[in-house]
Amino acid sequence: NAFSKKKQRHVLRIHKAQYIPFKESLINLLKKPEVYESLNCPSRANIMTDLSTRSFCYQHPVFKLPDSLKIILFYDDIGIDNPLGTRTKSVGMFYWTLANLPRFVRSQDRCVFLLACIEKQHLKQYGFTIVLDDFFCTIEELQTHGIPVTINEKLHIFKGSLLLICGDILDLSQMHGFKCAFRLGRKPFFYCDVNQDTIRRINKGSECHLRKLEKYDKNCMAIDFANEREKARLQKKYGIISLSPFRKINNFDIFHQTGIDIMHALLEGICQRELKLLLKHIQQQKFANLSSLTSMIRNFQYGCNEPSPSDKFNLSSEDNEAKFRASASEMLSLFKYIPFIFHQSHLTELISASVGWHSFLLLREIISISLASEIDITSIEKLEELVTRYLITFDNAYGYVQRIPKHHLLVHFGEQMHRFGSLRFTSCMIFEKKHSFFKRIKYRNFRNIAFTLADRHQHYIASLMYTCSNAATSSFLYSGHQIKKVKELDSSAAKLHYLLDMEKNLYETNQVTLFGITYVVGEAVLINDSVFPIDPVFGKILTIIVQDKIVLLRLQLMQVIVFNQKLCVYEVRLLDSSVTKNVYELKHVWPVRLLKISNSLFASLFPYGRFYLTSNE
Ligand SMILES: [Zn+2]
Repeated sequence: NAFSKKKQRHVLRIHKAQYIPFKESLINLLKKPEVYESLNCPSRANIMTDLSTRSFCYQHPVFKLPDSLKIILFYDDIGIDNPLGTRTKSVGMFYWTLANLPRFVRSQDRCVFLLACIEKQHLKQYGFTIVLDDFFCTIEELQTHGIPVTINEKLHIFKGSLLLICGDILDLSQMHGFKCAFRLGRKPFFYCDVNQDTIRRINKGSECHLRKLEKYDKNCMAIDFANEREKARLQKKYGIISLSPFRKINNFDIFHQTGIDIMHALLEGICQRELKLLLKHIQQQKFANLSSLTSMIRNFQYGCNEPSPSDKFNLSSEDNEAKFRASASEMLSLFKYIPFIFHQSHLTELISASVGWHSFLLLREIISISLASEIDITSIEKLEELVTRYLITFDNAYGYVQRIPKHHLLVHFGEQMHRFGSLRFTSCMIFEKKHSFFKRIKYRNFRNIAFTLADRHQHYIASLMYTCSNAATSSFLYSGHQIKKVKELDSSAAKLHYLLDMEKNLYETNQVTLFGITYVVGEAVLINDSVFPIDPVFGKILTIIVQDKIVLLRLQLMQVIVFNQKLCVYEVRLLDSSVTKNVYELKHVWPVRLLKISNSLFASLFPYGRFYLTSNE
């Protein structure tokens, strides 16, 4: 049964939590031959495509074995509105996935499984241990004698462990039993040794160290053995309430195996602050007022497949601040397009010399590298350099007191990339889609919201895993490419590319979606793997040719006229020649939108894994 739900009896008597037995879910997944086959995807040398290729796994006794299961646990909140009133319930959601799965498969929300959900108020009351106990037991089994699974009538023993926990840093610190408060705590982050006095003054990763497990264990022991009065004093001193439940996992380092989530840190934190300050600056300098900025942002032509600020987007002035609301994906679109939006409205001429604009562009570059799907060793060095420059520039523009605590997390980004590779794959971005699915539903059973959410989710996953007659589907991991409006081509068109077969049917289309990435005629792609400062080569998609699993792009070549430093975008020109490219050979998988502004054609590589803002200021 795909959606057996074991209720945590202990909790259930008083309050409600839902837990989906981890071992059964894991076995259900592994039993699928397609999952087993894709567990050990080979990765290209020197390009760090994935978690398992990074330093942390190489040095770890369990994870260095290529076939060991590497589990990632995510935690995120969701607010559900009561259909009858205005009361919103906040529910804590635990999800898990396997780092072993190929990254493009893993970036679909169907490959992220629900482990448990519980209302936050109950979570606060009863703690995390009770919810995660069974999970810890299974991890122990995986670490010791392993879990046997029969695949295609052959018995396999799977070993592995928990590789990483990801989520918002405040939630994670609560999960690990730390006193969590940005303002009150002497140590604002459980994660590193930074304190209130230095949090806004550190600009480099090397100036701040992660906490040490040994010292932490000693501190916890001291708290454990102290009498009541002494206990309170020590708890305050160390910022620890109780030992992290994750210390139940043998060898699990709560500091090194906790991932900072870029969605919470950047898009919902630092970006909000940066944009507010920039807009306020524009208003104060009288370059534009808030209502004209609002209409500029609202009326811009965003891509049709991209999230864009809604018609409710509004800038208001309160307490001398520019205020607005934007979700994480809307914020990403804003950062992508603001150079264009401002250029269109002739604002860039006015602001391009200001330090605030430079600070914005540097942060935009940080996002670009953080969201890259492929990075290499130079990306990490560049990221670290960029963070330092950004923080200094930000201070120059607005003063260091304007930094929010999350700004500090930036100095640890490089280190995390060293340990686990691209930050994109350890981010909570994927849950925005899952959670908007939950939010769209009208809930009748609001009292036991945890049950309702878990039930919906498990039905959704089960419908993908099994057919209605309960037979396993063979295309769970990936349901295939989506190809729109197909037109058959003459077999002579097969001469276009050596991969095409004259004997087989050949089709032409104007839109394909591969692993969630949509390519549309009229947009562009990056053709070369341009290691900057070599100019990139773009191609505008003329048509898309499909034969079986082969997808080819017919591209009109474009030449870069100039890299516009003020906008951080390329000005390009269409050439008279065209080429045919295999879509799987693209190094930069994201389609690039071409924007025409006053007779010039622009292309922006955002996000992209490499750095292209020069260091001369
Ligand atoms: Zn730190």
